[in-house]
Amino acid sequence: MSGLLDSLGVRPLINAVGPATRLGSSTPSAEVLEAMAEAASVYVLTHELQAAAGAEIAALTGAEAAYVTNGAAAGLMLAAAACIAGDDPALMNRLPFADGMRGEIVIHRGQRIAYDHAFRAAGARLVEIGFADLTFPYELDAAIGERTAAVAYFSNSSANAIPLEQVVAIAHARGVPVILDASLAVPPVENLRRFADLGVDLVAVSGGKWIGGPAASGFLYGRADLIRSVALQQQDQDVRIETWHGAPLIADGTVAGPPHQGIGRALKVGKEEVAGLLAALRAYVARDHAADQARWEAAAQTVADALAAIPGVRARVLAADGRERGWPIAEIDLDEARLGLSAYDVVRALAAGEPSIALDEAVAWRAALRVTPTHLRAGEEQVVATALATALRGTDPSAAHSTHDRKDSKA
Ligand SMILES: *Cc1c(COP(=O)(O)O)cnc(C)c1O
Repeated sequence: MSGLLDSLGVRPLINAVGPATRLGSSTPSAEVLEAMAEAASVYVLTHELQAAAGAEIAALTGAEAAYVTNGAAAGLMLAAAACIAGDDPALMNRLPFADGMRGEIVIHRGQRIAYDHAFRAAGARLVEIGFADLTFPYELDAAIGERTAAVAYFSNSSANAIPLEQVVAIAHARGVPVILDASLAVPPVENLRRFADLGVDLVAVSGGKWIGGPAASGFLYGRADLIRSVALQQQDQDVRIETWHGAPLIADGTVAGPPHQGIGRALKVGKEEVAGLLAALRAYVARDHAADQARWEAAAQTVADALAAIPGVRARVLAADGRERGWPIAEIDLDEARLGLSAYDVVRALAAGEPSIALDEAVAWRAALRVTPTHLRAGEEQVVATALATALRGTDPSAAHSTHDRKDSKA
């Protein structure tokens, strides 16, 4: 260890949130770092590396083709660009200004999430269907027109959306591709193949979230022609027609020539990320996923048990539901008045502690906290449990071990 972070005064924290870019995303394994170091030590043709990595990812997912991106958000942006511009380099060169192009992406109103900015960044205009909690299939059909580039879908939405299978069927009947944000859909690992089997045209996955790849990695997989468009728009195109590796595409009439550096050029993927993502994905698909789930459940239970006897606190383990969430969490409801503390106070207290602990505040608005155990290292669940118990008792840590009347905990 060089002690670089120390020299910067940046202290590591305990991640009880799960995958989060703002917390550093991932702690890649030694084998991932080794693959990155190997790639870092040489020069390669990036299009060759991408093609080889893409072929392996396609085989793993059951898709026609795949491409390594620098994250799922980048994947969504590239997917939109591919669906809008297709194989036309002149259109690629115009993005993100898609005026006059087939530039609309249809999306459930109930699936609008902050990451859909990625579609808009590519030049897409979003066309909403349905309402927050209900959408009918005919609404999708009615929204598709000659300006439609794609239909977007978010795998883990809680909205009462049209089922993905039906979305694919309706879109394909109209000759329109479907882009899926699957950032939160893996685990379970089986979803990777399921989405290809369903015929989703482009699936975006984050490499830094569950796969254990570098933070700035992810992948897209799906239809070969769309992945080709992604490659053309993402790769550095400081090339000449006379020597371009894509010359066969010109010869067979697929493209008129190389585009210039496109909107994807700013979404650069280093060879280190390609290598790291691939090493991580190989390891991920081979993992003992049942053992992971069991370990996460035990860690969540440790946290819930430590809080069970605290008056004004109700803690329980919520199992993976396989729909919105493929992993267990500990959810902790607070009687804020009784505790004299808000959920946000607890988040702030643990963040300010030593070691600093990051807690999931997604449900703090309804006086609840979540501990997602998936990115805790061995033993950290006990540190989180003790810190939470201390903060919620508002007393010294030794009080965490005293006994309380159990019925008090059902506040
Ligand atoms: C995290 C996330 C993304 C972005 O993933 P990155 O790999 O960090 O770019 C996109 N969509 C959803 C739903 C996410 O949770």
